[in-house]
Amino acid sequence: MNTPDWTICEHCDSVYQPTPLGRGQTARCTRCGAILARGGQLSTQQLLALSICAAIVFCFANAFPVISISMQGLSNEATLWQSVQALAQGRISLIAAVAGLTIILAPMLQIILLCWVLSFAVVGTAAPGFKACMRALEHLRPWSMLEVCLLGILVAIVKLGGILDVHPGLGLWSLAMLTVLIILISGKGIRHLWTELEGVIP
Ligand SMILES: [Zn+2]
Repeated sequence: MNTPDWTICEHCDSVYQPTPLGRGQTARCTRCGAILARGGQLSTQQLLALSICAAIVFCFANAFPVISISMQGLSNEATLWQSVQALAQGRISLIAAVAGLTIILAPMLQIILLCWVLSFAVVGTAAPGFKACMRALEHLRPWSMLEVCLLGILVAIVKLGGILDVHPGLGLWSLAMLTVLIILISGKGIRHLWTELEGVIP
């Protein structure tokens, strides 16, 4: 049991010896059926490239309006931050804090931490504070809810479309791209860094 590279099932604590997996293959726990590992994960370089791309798209998603409404010559548009501010002025301002955390703060921290950790990992060294960053990434994952936000905006567009002239803005397209990128980069694929950088983690 003193071999360091055992794989432990997160759900039932069964212990397995890892086997190399090909693209599209998955290793499942024989006791509870949970997925232990997936083959053909993204490499560190690919993850870094996607993280930088996500950082750029994140700026677009926040700088440009996600939705614009026009009616009888009057028009109005809102960015993500403006919608959070509008929620803060409403009756349930606590929702604004939750929205701000899940659609702006958590994804922003995820992107910053990923870029930080991966830019060092790509040259084979562990970033300062590597362990804390990796743990923070695990804790941030459930708080990042861009897909929920995207779905909400789409429902609003469809519902308002019957009454007003509603146009999705550049921010919404960026948000859609960002949602896909965040799912790709913030998954469990990043965990291979623990084994890859094993000797150099302080
Ligand atoms: Zn299991």
